[in-house]
Amino acid sequence: MSGADLALKFLGTILHEQSSWVARDGAPTLTVADPATGALVASLTITTKAQICAKIDQVSIAQALWAEMTASARQNILRKWHDLAQKHEGELAALLTLEQGKPLSEAKAEISSSLKNILWSAGLCERKNGYEEKSHINGALNEVHYEPVGVVAAITPWNFPSAMITRKVAPALAAGCGVILKPAEDTPLSAIALAKLAYDAGIPRGLFALVITNREGAAEFSDVVFSDKRVRMVSFTGSTAIGKTLIASSAQNVTKLSLELGGNAPFIICADADLDKAVEGAFASKFRNAGQTCICANRIYVHADIYDVFMERFVARVRAVKIGNGFEDGVEIGPLINERAQQNVQNFIKKLESESAQKIYAAQLDLAGSFLAPMIYACAEGCAAPQEEIFGPIACIYKFDSYEDVVQKANETDYGLAAYIYAKDNKLSMRLAKALHFGMVGINETRISDASIPFGGVKQSGIGREGGYDSLKNFMVTKFICKA
Ligand code: ADP
Repeated sequence: MSGADLALKFLGTILHEQSSWVARDGAPTLTVADPATGALVASLTITTKAQICAKIDQVSIAQALWAEMTASARQNILRKWHDLAQKHEGELAALLTLEQGKPLSEAKAEISSSLKNILWSAGLCERKNGYEEKSHINGALNEVHYEPVGVVAAITPWNFPSAMITRKVAPALAAGCGVILKPAEDTPLSAIALAKLAYDAGIPRGLFALVITNREGAAEFSDVVFSDKRVRMVSFTGSTAIGKTLIASSAQNVTKLSLELGGNAPFIICADADLDKAVEGAFASKFRNAGQTCICANRIYVHADIYDVFMERFVARVRAVKIGNGFEDGVEIGPLINERAQQNVQNFIKKLESESAQKIYAAQLDLAGSFLAPMIYACAEGCAAPQEEIFGPIACIYKFDSYEDVVQKANETDYGLAAYIYAKDNKLSMRLAKALHFGMVGINETRISDASIPFGGVKQSGIGREGGYDSLKNFMVTKFICKA
């Protein structure tokens, strides 16, 4: 069976059991298309405002009961969710490629990191929740408790439709919270599949509610959750522009926020770098998910001593890439998510060319769907277009010759999510890593996302961290009790 057929069969079974998601005559509908072909994959019923409010009612009731359960009971249910998702690993990956377009190998990697997100959160369930110590008042006892924040609204993006859901929902549930999730309008199918498996595992429907909307409905969803005093936290991954509107809305009820926003990663290749690793690292970091990740290399800085040889090898690497439908063997770059994304990157290219960036290489493409040819541009010092997040397969390369200068340029951005350094000299790479104003730095490594690490940024790249040992604390509030 082909990958697409496997995904459609899996989807058919899910929608058969979860028929309330299937589009009905007369009801507002969200259509999902395969970005590689433009073909219609599914038509879903949009959740109405009244239904969103009813779901918040249910989550609020279910959360109070869930929080009362023992940590090990919650852990067992989360483990079951993990086991069921693992059983359907291949189908989840195929569904992800079908709705999102990424190569199947990348979809498989995303599903395994999603499984780890669930298992990691389940593992943290039983970690000590608080502590007591001798009080600052003679004869009294001080207690510090960590309590679930309550009802959490999660808003997730389309670039990692499975990993971003599990990275929010699993730790929130593990912490004792209830969740109302609104996945991105382009990729609701992975969300429906994950929710169905969660229900099969015993996670109550009322505790983990799903909202399906289009783009207009997304704004309505945030209006509803920020105006409802029972929703105590919003966890969002997406653009800095939308993140800023959420910060403004959160003022209404002082809703807690966790925000993972845009990035503009500098990728610094030092004179002594291992060139094989640097070329492969720059390629992976730039072109993973067709350049649509918030930790993608946005500005590649190459030391003048190795610039020519790097450029020659990097162009050769990109020239060798296979672009196409994510289900085809050997494809390394799939389509962009939709035509809007394609248009945004095309506008970026116009800006880049108006600033005299020199096109070094552009792949030839003749594909339907929202594909965009990978390109490489040499940017002169004043070329400012890459100060914005590219979110597409366009590599922008700068030449540098002073490490002090390159750090300063790398830091000249409002973003501060990820940065990369390729160098053999340990002292040099650590000196640069410490001087870079970013939440995460990869030295000779681009795989910097995992359930076990605190993922997040500084400046306008966000507030808070997801993952790592404190991933449950993100969804908890601290209560202090002084017992005299
Ligand atoms: P992109 O432009 O790459 O789609 P967004 O930040 O716009 O990134 O989207 C990320 C998520 O935010 C998606 O789930 C989207 O539906 C949601 N979203 C878009 N607009 C709003 C809004 N006004 N309020 C809340 N969520 C929104």
